[in-house]
Amino acid sequence: MTTRSVNQIINSMTTSDGAGVKLLRTLGSKQNLRLDPFLMLDEFGSFDANDYIAGFPPHPHRGFETVTYMLEGHMLHEDHMGNKGHLRSGDVQWMTAAHGIIHSEMPQQQSGRMHGFQLWINLPAREKMKAASYRDIPAEKIPVVAFGNGATVKVIAGDVVNDEQRISGPVQGLATQALYLDVKLPQGQRFVQATPAAHNAFIYLYEGEITIGEGTVTKLQGHTAALLNGGDQIVVNAASDARFLILAAQPLNEPVVQYGPFVMNTREEIEQAIVDYQNGKLVQEKALAFAE
Ligand code: FE
Repeated sequence: MTTRSVNQIINSMTTSDGAGVKLLRTLGSKQNLRLDPFLMLDEFGSFDANDYIAGFPPHPHRGFETVTYMLEGHMLHEDHMGNKGHLRSGDVQWMTAAHGIIHSEMPQQQSGRMHGFQLWINLPAREKMKAASYRDIPAEKIPVVAFGNGATVKVIAGDVVNDEQRISGPVQGLATQALYLDVKLPQGQRFVQATPAAHNAFIYLYEGEITIGEGTVTKLQGHTAALLNGGDQIVVNAASDARFLILAAQPLNEPVVQYGPFVMNTREEIEQAIVDYQNGKLVQEKALAFAE
């Protein structure tokens, strides 16, 4: 067993997106600061409605997937094909933009806390122009695994093993074989997660303090991402009560050309996306959206 060590730490940058929603961005905060196939990770979190109320008015995506995970709050999602969905505390929306989506994500609360994450995962070249699709996953469909040491793990995508039992998250069958876990680890406890050695992996800490690795460990605090070296397992110890995301996936090893919300393999494909968007051809017919 090789335990993954930390290769690079990315401190979060405060930024705003949409119509002025305040965000903490780690991956994607600088050009080429990605971990194939992960393109971007944002944490949005505020008790102040001014930080989120304007939401994300209609905007396009092509060539990748966006995963929105609400910890707390209520957002309404609507797209140009007439799809509509509510995201409430604990829910996940896994949107495969692929050929194209134009959508809005608007807060449905006037006050209280809004807290969650949006992750962008790249699609392989062969899937970038397939029909758009959604997986809307309500909180009750996402397994929460309780370990003997008090750790609890929400399994959004991929598998977790507890007491020789394999627990699978609702999102399966992705080309990138993504693993997406939300871990709550009490102070002094340890969590170990197996990962295919060739997959890329990172941890995003959003509460408390942890150390990552074995032997030579790296301390992580604040709202910070740690990109990990290769290995077949991830070992985390909690220095205080901690909450963090574990993400891992098969790298695509394909060229990435990004222009804002369009992520393709070549410049020509980006130019085509812009032309398609201007000509109203980014989005296909509604019937195609659920063609799979
Ligand atoms: Fe979006």
